[in-house]
Amino acid sequence: MRSRLLSWYLENRRDLPWRRSRDPFAIWISESMLQQTRVETVIPYYERFLSRFPDVETLADSDIEDVYGLWAGLGYYSRARNLHAAAKMVVEEYGGNLPDHVDELRRLKGVGRYTAGALASIAFDREEPLVDGNVIRVLTRWLGWRDDVSKKSVVDGLWELAGRLVQGPQPGDLNQALMELGATICIPRSPKCPECPIRRSCEARKMGDPESIPVKPRKQRVLAMRGVAAWIERKGRVLVVRREEGGLLGGMWELPGGTLEAREPLESGLRRCLQETLSLEVGHLEAQGQIEHLFSHRKLKLDLYRAHDARGRVHRTGLAEHRWVAPSSIEKLPHGGPTRKALALLGQGSEQSPRQSLRTHQSQQN
Ligand code: SF4
Repeated sequence: MRSRLLSWYLENRRDLPWRRSRDPFAIWISESMLQQTRVETVIPYYERFLSRFPDVETLADSDIEDVYGLWAGLGYYSRARNLHAAAKMVVEEYGGNLPDHVDELRRLKGVGRYTAGALASIAFDREEPLVDGNVIRVLTRWLGWRDDVSKKSVVDGLWELAGRLVQGPQPGDLNQALMELGATICIPRSPKCPECPIRRSCEARKMGDPESIPVKPRKQRVLAMRGVAAWIERKGRVLVVRREEGGLLGGMWELPGGTLEAREPLESGLRRCLQETLSLEVGHLEAQGQIEHLFSHRKLKLDLYRAHDARGRVHRTGLAEHRWVAPSSIEKLPHGGPTRKALALLGQGSEQSPRQSLRTHQSQQN
């Protein structure tokens, strides 16, 4: 299996910018950006990030706001925060050289078992395994394992197997071959078995139903949440607030508002939230529309308003920070998916708003 995987990988791997580098720092940045994010999305961010922060010292010396600025739009800002903190640690404790051992790598903020394995094997040629969603899919299908992959014992078994497979030359390429196979051939739906280098020994292919593996637990029920938020403008500047750390969207910036109580009307709910969190009274509320955002187990419906005649000084309760900022700079602050969609709806984001898309669609039909 090792030799088949390696020769397939060397012939078929995609040409990705981080694969052209042997610099551990560049590989670290790519691994961090690729967590929960698609390859095509990451490429321009990776290139911009490395031209601004070419090495760990530059990143460690930088202002966190600059790091957030380059991360804006990539989401999961805790990755940017962790990278910045870890870069400082690498400079202070390791003289600017990324450690090459998994135990030391895992001391760095944001570096878990997967990232440590990726860095040790790809950047330092160590025979260390890694297991991600792609590797889980390839290995469970290859073995015909029908155990629930959310169970710790199953995941431990896969790490153990990956640990045996990686022993030998080119450990970094072997790990990348497994991931590449899962990303391009052994895909979740309609895997391309006839093109697969390990098809002859694959149990799932022999059984004729590879799509039924890996076996995952039944999805949890999605909880519905109702929220309201306001665009409050004074002298050309807009009020934004930052959530306290921890919890859903912890530390992120957003438009002020909050969550509605059961059966609470939208407008009175928004007035209550602005009063409770900012001590602000507002006049006329102009409805702007609604966005929806799906978190892993929650679905948020967020109604947006333009609030006119905001009165009073801001006194925060339960929020980390507030600022009056130029509308164009909101997008540069670390924010989550709901705020990105809200800005698009209000015509204030770089993404096309749903109303703009509707107009485009209508004009194409006309
Ligand atoms: S033969 Fe098919 S199911 Fe088996 S590893 Fe290859 S692509 Fe996946």
